[in-house]
Amino acid sequence: MQVYADNAATTKMSQAAIRAMVPYFDQIYGNPSSLHSVGQEAKEALEDARARVAKILGCEPREIYFTSGGSEADNQAIISAARLGARKGKRHIISTAFEHHAVLHTLQRLEKEGFEVTLLDVRQGHNITAGQVRDAIREDTCLVTTMYANNEIGSVLPIPQIGQVCREAGVLFHTDAVQAVGHLAIDVKEQNIDLLSLSGHKFHGPKGVGALYCRRGIPLTNVIEGGAQERGKRAGTENLPGICGMVAALEDAVAHLEENTAKVTAMRDRLIAGLSQIPHSALNGDPVNRLPGNVSFCFEGIEGESLLLLLDMKGVCASSGSACTSGSLDPSHVLLAIGRVHDVAHGSLRLSLSEYNTEEEVDHILTVVPEVVAYLRGISPVWRDLQTGKRTYIL
Ligand SMILES: *Cc1c(COP(=O)(O)O)cnc(C)c1O
Repeated sequence: MQVYADNAATTKMSQAAIRAMVPYFDQIYGNPSSLHSVGQEAKEALEDARARVAKILGCEPREIYFTSGGSEADNQAIISAARLGARKGKRHIISTAFEHHAVLHTLQRLEKEGFEVTLLDVRQGHNITAGQVRDAIREDTCLVTTMYANNEIGSVLPIPQIGQVCREAGVLFHTDAVQAVGHLAIDVKEQNIDLLSLSGHKFHGPKGVGALYCRRGIPLTNVIEGGAQERGKRAGTENLPGICGMVAALEDAVAHLEENTAKVTAMRDRLIAGLSQIPHSALNGDPVNRLPGNVSFCFEGIEGESLLLLLDMKGVCASSGSACTSGSLDPSHVLLAIGRVHDVAHGSLRLSLSEYNTEEEVDHILTVVPEVVAYLRGISPVWRDLQTGKRTYIL
């Protein structure tokens, strides 16, 4: 049995999304910027896709800009808001300590240019509150950027409340909603979101395509210069097959949101209940406000990397944190941000489910994870020291 439980890293494409892409490779292959009929047919498909994304997010088509993915949308949203702020002498940005690197590294670059960044503490409840945002807003704050849901530990942030606080304070609000779109109900107007990033490959669409929602009236700064595509704000011939595949996947996800949520949440809760039985373990992330498919644990006395390798041998594809940090020996910045000490953060496991997973697969995971954890503890000098009292348990 092979169980794919790494859907927060990427998802397999749905048949609907694959089918939607195919005609755009060899039939409707024109360049939407061409004036002839082949180009205009492509242009129509592009604008149809834009309208469909806008309808799902609750905005106008002209507020949607297609990008190469979530990272690019995050970069452009944050840089645009920063440039706008700087023009008004506002150079303070608020974010959280557990953002994706697409956000954190963009903020670090802005810090080098003289911006000041406040990263909100996420230790309390492994989440933030709108009150924390309100308390951090200053006269010179130009942007609040917080993720909608965390990719490693699954916490879902109080986005409508944060949107409300930002609107009242007159501060722009961007959310990296890459883990939320297609999985949670989102309405950018109702939730007072000014800028939002999404990515196709996190909801069974293709990789290398995403979108940025930017509320009308907020001027975007180009991250990629060139032609006048995307209202002059994002140069480059549009990835029409990708865009059409992404829209099909998004519509499919939204159409089945309730049933998928019910199915995935039930599997998630069974995994959390089962893995909680392992002694000296702890659930990471908000236990209540949590992505339907996220299961994240720390197990004391083991190495997450060895756990992943052995699980892979037993047919379970999982992750220790985010795909972006694996390969480095540093523990995940997210786990450190929620207050896990290095030793504990090293023994992490993230299982991220989708509606393609089955109850049989959950049974398999519930059999092999406790076995592998017990085996690794059996050969771990750290575990021996914990048992003999040379070290004290943290969990
Ligand atoms: C995957 C992910 C991204 C990056 O999206 P890409 O399309 O892979 O660039 C950004 N933020 C979060 C929260 C993610 O999970």
